[in-house]
Amino acid sequence: MIETVEKRCLYCNNPLSGRTDKIFCDDRCRNNYYYKVNAEHKEYIRNINKILLKNRGILKAVNPSGRTSVSRQYLENLGFDFTHFTGTHTTKRGRLYHLVYDHAYNIDEQGRVSLVVFHRETQPVVSQHHVGW
Ligand SMILES: [Zn+2]
Repeated sequence: MIETVEKRCLYCNNPLSGRTDKIFCDDRCRNNYYYKVNAEHKEYIRNINKILLKNRGILKAVNPSGRTSVSRQYLENLGFDFTHFTGTHTTKRGRLYHLVYDHAYNIDEQGRVSLVVFHRETQPVVSQHHVGW
């Protein structure tokens, strides 16, 4: 069976000839294509990492003791982005914490944000009995 549909290179869009399973003209087009795709992914990931690191820096700065509470507005004024976090944790009492690496926060109905810090092994530093993990 002869392949009659004209196929084009994924990178340069030139018509492809020869083997029907080809998707690039040659190694150069293939390398250029994957380089471009990779660069786009890296840029996307770099931007998210930037937000997460900024969020962590803010939490670290406002919570030097490892346990504090501030208003939601206060964090927003500092540029904190509540839509980016690295995970969640729900306590036995049903309180939802958002994690930003080793920092965790819970927002109550009044917009008060409780901040706690984790040890590396994900144990709360000062707040085990305080928040009842
Ligand atoms: Zn090509």
